[in-house]
Amino acid sequence: MWHPFTQMREWLRGRPIVIVDGHGAALRDAAGREYLDANSSIWTNLHGHAHPKINAAITRQLKKIAHSSALGLANEPASLLAQKLIVSAGRGRAAAGAPRLARVFFSDDGSTAMEVALKLAYQFALRAGRSPRSKFLCLDSAYHGDTIGAVSLGHIDLFHRSYAGLLFQSAKVMSPYCYRCPFNRAKPERADAREYRRCRWECVGQVEQKFAARKKKGDPFAAFVFEPLIQGAAGMIPQPAGWLGRVAEIARGHGAQLIADEVMTALGRASAGATSLLACHQENVHPDYAALAKGLTGGYLPLAATLTTREVFEAFLGEYEEFKTFFHGHSFTGNQLGAAAALASLEVLESRECAAARRSLEQVLREELKALWPLEHVGDIRQVGLVAGEELVKNWKTREAYPLRDQAGIRVCAAMARRGVLTRPVGNVVVLMPPYCTNADQARAMIRALRESIIETLGNKAP
Ligand code: PMP
Repeated sequence: MWHPFTQMREWLRGRPIVIVDGHGAALRDAAGREYLDANSSIWTNLHGHAHPKINAAITRQLKKIAHSSALGLANEPASLLAQKLIVSAGRGRAAAGAPRLARVFFSDDGSTAMEVALKLAYQFALRAGRSPRSKFLCLDSAYHGDTIGAVSLGHIDLFHRSYAGLLFQSAKVMSPYCYRCPFNRAKPERADAREYRRCRWECVGQVEQKFAARKKKGDPFAAFVFEPLIQGAAGMIPQPAGWLGRVAEIARGHGAQLIADEVMTALGRASAGATSLLACHQENVHPDYAALAKGLTGGYLPLAATLTTREVFEAFLGEYEEFKTFFHGHSFTGNQLGAAAALASLEVLESRECAAARRSLEQVLREELKALWPLEHVGDIRQVGLVAGEELVKNWKTREAYPLRDQAGIRVCAAMARRGVLTRPVGNVVVLMPPYCTNADQARAMIRALRESIIETLGNKAP
């Protein structure tokens, strides 16, 4: 097997960890070793492995049918799931009335959910009289998936460069990356950079300038694409409170559609105490498209959804020969097993017990992560809900970064694995994103392993 995002030469030299089962926040390998799943199996798992309610829902569905095509045929679990998503996402709406996101297009994963949003937004802009060349504005270092459309919206140089000849152009604007912001005049402190930053919201000003420049050219942006509250694969870049609300207002003011990539952030992940499914609602932002994947099935099966408005849906209605149809679809669209898992997972997510568990896990992480500040190779610790990123640096006083070839993040994660804790870094940022069922002792064990691994790997002085 050829592993994703993996240098296989290195991988083949090592001894693989072969996962055979999992229960709750723990995974077990073929040698019988237990690990804590500290990144929820690449940000997918919500309620732990082998959850009895999700297992039962899949088994029940399996007795009826595993899959039938959604090309013209309806099925019960997918229809119920669409309705459930609309109602649950609608809880974050500003005013009473019909939910703004009222239609659901199913696909398979985060990349395809974004691909769907991108194609819908492009077609919608065309049908509203925009030029076929109108562009999307994205964030620097953005990651929205690996299909060519999604890569085109992405701005991680390393990935972008590899496929440059295949991509369409999208524009980018700076992320509000307070820790490494050229406009932040504050000296590094032993605290989350968002808290001590000194700036004049130049990052918001840059967004305004980008929109104004396009308007002047007479070819305004078709859409603004963002991850709400925190950019994941970009390096766990959190947004200071108020940033998203402000830039969304600017985008709206310039007639751009809003595409929220909620693949990582939704379903309580970036807003542990929220009742709405969508993280963007925390900033009172109401997008035209929201992409959900990863945790949608509780991390059990590949299923994704792109939520959109009635207005977008209606722009695709017409007589057959008008060919206004949305020409897009996947063989497994609306898969019954995935939909059954998702319905069960959402029921667990919306239970009082799960809300309480999320809030207390968020608090434990916040408390325990403080133990990392005394380490000289920890530059920034940033937590948004149940997502935490710890940025490793050569020198916290200068913020000097490790070159990627030093593999600082990879080596620290390898040392964590030896201590029974599994996660993957994004560059020099170690990610902690445990399942919601993780108890306080398990969360402490994850952070203890991280602390010891940093000291062992990077030669940090213990406090
Ligand atoms: N968008 C975001 C924000 C993501 O984090 C990811 C995956 N890490 C994707 C899209 C792509 O999702 P998938 O890997 O399921 O295609």
